[in-house]
Amino acid sequence: MRTPRRHALRVVIAGPVLAGCPVHGTAAPPGTALESERFAVCHRLRDGEAFPRPGQWRDADLVILGGGISGLSAARLCGDRDVVLLEKEPLPGGHAQSTALGGTPCSVGTAYVGRGDAAGRLAAELGLPLLPVSSWDGTADQGAFTPDTWGDGLDDLPYPLAVRERFAACRRDFLALAPDDQRHDEAPLAALLAPYGDHVRRWWDAYCPSNWGGSSADVAASLAIDTLHWWAGPDRSDGRVTWPGGVGALARRLAADVATAHPGGIVTGATVLSLSRAGAGVEVTYFDDERISGIRAKAAIVALPKFVAARIVAGLPADQRGAMERIRHAPYCVVNVRCDRPVPRLGFDTWCPGRRFTDCIVADWVGKRPGDAGGDVLTCYVPLAEDARESLLDDDHCRALAVAVADDLRAAWPEGAITPVEAHLYRRGHAIHCSAPGLRNHQLLARRPFGPIAFAHGDVGGLVASSAGAIRAARRAVDEVAAFL
Ligand SMILES: Cc1cc2nc3c(=O)[nH]c(=O)nc-3n(C[C@H](O)[C@H](O)[C@H](O)COP(=O)(O)OP(=O)(O)OC[C@H]3O[C@@H](n4cnc5c(N)ncnc54)[C@H](O)[C@@H]3O)c2cc1C
Repeated sequence: MRTPRRHALRVVIAGPVLAGCPVHGTAAPPGTALESERFAVCHRLRDGEAFPRPGQWRDADLVILGGGISGLSAARLCGDRDVVLLEKEPLPGGHAQSTALGGTPCSVGTAYVGRGDAAGRLAAELGLPLLPVSSWDGTADQGAFTPDTWGDGLDDLPYPLAVRERFAACRRDFLALAPDDQRHDEAPLAALLAPYGDHVRRWWDAYCPSNWGGSSADVAASLAIDTLHWWAGPDRSDGRVTWPGGVGALARRLAADVATAHPGGIVTGATVLSLSRAGAGVEVTYFDDERISGIRAKAAIVALPKFVAARIVAGLPADQRGAMERIRHAPYCVVNVRCDRPVPRLGFDTWCPGRRFTDCIVADWVGKRPGDAGGDVLTCYVPLAEDARESLLDDDHCRALAVAVADDLRAAWPEGAITPVEAHLYRRGHAIHCSAPGLRNHQLLARRPFGPIAFAHGDVGGLVASSAGAIRAARRAVDEVAAFL
């Protein structure tokens, strides 16, 4: 009897830890571990455990909490100050991590940045070549692939004429709206989509969760208006750049730069337990698996998601804590799927409405193109609803999810076109913030400096979770603490 293909699929579940490339050296071999993000100590904190006071203290000018792109960028901007950055994972980088599968570099999070945005400029400053994506997003639906969905592809979408006309009406109407009209920040996108019917809403209900942390009912309408201007406006230009393995390359370069400027300044495996104001400065306590230690500094930058900051920063005003708690973060899986033959023609990022995953990216777009000899890896994005967060703690559930994604990937193309043989799933409990109506107001309050404590992180860097937003938030926080250093 022939073994069904799905039984040949190898599933590996990992967290960003082992999936990430070490700062110095090559990527961790794929398939080596069933791992997860380090959340045990964070969950003990959440559950109210009281940790003892540290036995040892050290002094610093500035302590930075969190070693994602935002915390690292803040450290880089601090010149020759005595800076200590605390990161709970064994590697810095946060969501910007890379791995390799079957020899192909691939991302387990952030895929691209904009050439002209803060992240693209930082990459250029750090000497990374900016490798252009040059490919408008396509759509795979009804067994067909349509390149450049909202540009030249709109008339070729595989739907009846009446449906294609609704896509065209959506594009026309959104382009007639001003992208910077802040009234659309306050309204959910679903309300604006109502006239265009189920197919159009279904398309956006793939796009929205992957980019904006919620469905079209959850996210602000302004984002889709802005995006359509980018895709189909008169000055359209795809300024996205990437690297083999995605934005992990930028995080590694940035971490190496910080490590050179501040030898010993990046402390990994260090989960922050508390941050409080003490005298004119701050006190931070952290746990590194062996002991609890403390740092006394003149100032602190909190480059952590706000639901964590709300828990660990002592004495926050109630309105600020409330605003932090109202910034929602969606859980997210990324499944890298290796196929045993080259995948058919695709764009860099292909949207797959109605599937178990929202979109897939050709993993090594700037290295290996579809059609090159050898296997190909597709990075499939699987944003989840907030009420599905707990399910990520269940390994069997995650294995089943990885298999379902690979099956669905196969089903999205004609029989035999995509043949998954290996799937690696990376899970994150609180990945991107939800770009909800009214978010801007919560962000303004949540990031208000609290004496010598400033707040960075991408979740206060803009409506949309992005590397550029994380860097912008870092710059602002560095300016805010300058007076205390
Ligand atoms: C799947 C996915 C795909 C994405 N794709 C893109 C993309 O293509 N382009 C783009 O621009 N953006 C993308 N984003 C968004 C982008 O990755 C983030 O906005 C950005 O990386 C945020 O950086 P950050 O430093 O603010 O936060 P994070 O990356 O969240 O870093 C925060 C750090 O704090 C650490 N930490 C948390 N709690 C503690 C604690 N108690 N003690 C110590 N350390 C702690 C974490 O381990 C983490 O390293 C994507 C995000 C995800 C999840």
